[in-house]
Amino acid sequence: LGALRNRSFANRVSPYSRSLSTLVLAEHEGGAVKASSLSAVEAAKFLSEDNSISLLLAGSGPSLREAAAYAASCHPSISRVLLADSDKFTYPLAEPWAKLVHVVQQKGSYSHIISGSGSFGKNILPRAAALLDVSPITDVTEISGSNLFVRPIYAGNALSTVRYTGSDPCMLTIRSTSFPLGQVSTPSSAASIDQVDLSTFGEDDAIGKSKYVSLSSQDSERPDLGNARIVVTGGRALKSAENFKMIERLAEKLGAAVGATRAAVDAGFVPNELQVGQTGKIVAPDLYMAFGVSGAIQHLTGMRDSKVIVAVNKDADAPIFQVADYGLVGDLFEVIPEFLEKLPDK
Ligand code: FAD
Repeated sequence: LGALRNRSFANRVSPYSRSLSTLVLAEHEGGAVKASSLSAVEAAKFLSEDNSISLLLAGSGPSLREAAAYAASCHPSISRVLLADSDKFTYPLAEPWAKLVHVVQQKGSYSHIISGSGSFGKNILPRAAALLDVSPITDVTEISGSNLFVRPIYAGNALSTVRYTGSDPCMLTIRSTSFPLGQVSTPSSAASIDQVDLSTFGEDDAIGKSKYVSLSSQDSERPDLGNARIVVTGGRALKSAENFKMIERLAEKLGAAVGATRAAVDAGFVPNELQVGQTGKIVAPDLYMAFGVSGAIQHLTGMRDSKVIVAVNKDADAPIFQVADYGLVGDLFEVIPEFLEKLPDK
């Protein structure tokens, strides 16, 4: 509904008095643009006139060029791919990337610069905004006009409508779950791929103040938590890492991603990359199953947009039942084994 409402607003706000063009700051991995960046393109569609969405990709090596070619060929709304190919951008460190956004904006004079609200965008965009001397607006969930945005406040307890009154560019991070990917159709003509002129980049004091050390990520056959169609989440009630394996087995049977509450993460049952909520990941799968999760507001803010929510809790008054479509008052140590027994192997 949010997306539909946005769409009708987008129709109403054009034509604009100022010329609108959007730069999407994109993240790529393994030769493809990440889904969160494609969601940022979906958001850009509400702000841009035809043929005015540019995608900025930076990095080094063949996977950057593959990602650029992917972006240029697969998205009908992207009119231009800007490519910054340099070993300065091999790792997404905020200092060089923010400087890059500054350099690109000097030339492109975009009215809006958008990125997803993940760690990539949250790391780079505020620093770039400081270099451009504007105030960024974060976690946008609805675009109601070229300078009117909705964003959650108080851990998602209230929605605030914000009017941007600063100068261009208006810089936003958007919640990917609020701008779902549309059907990707074949573009009528592929976007152009242009190299960013880095001759003015120069040496900068800020560059080199932080250093990439290493990336630690878990290889898993399970779908990525942020994009999974089904998420199975466990809370503190699981009591131990050993018991939490029940959640993992259930997720495997359902082809789901595993999520956890902060209490479960803090207790050491699972690593914190699985945390869902205000200080974890924001998810909106087709099906969200919560076992032994009380439904604290900080958790709800990360999953309340899920299409169908199923909750199992032994306390009939647990707040999770207020957002659940299906609720079962019961002991998860009885319910999960029964599920595991009755569900066919994948
Ligand atoms: P509890 O609140 O302890 O709930 C456990 C539930 O399990 C209870 O409802 C109980 O009835 C039920 N239960 C117990 N035994 C069983 C059983 N055998 N079978 C079935 N049910 C059972 N939390 C997050 O999750 N994500 C966040 O991102 C996050 N960010 C935060 C940010 C801030 C600034 C703060 C202050 C807090 C944040 N929290 C976050 C913490 C949040 O407030 C809650 O403390 C947390 O979500 C509680 O986790 P829980 O539901 O697992 O545990």
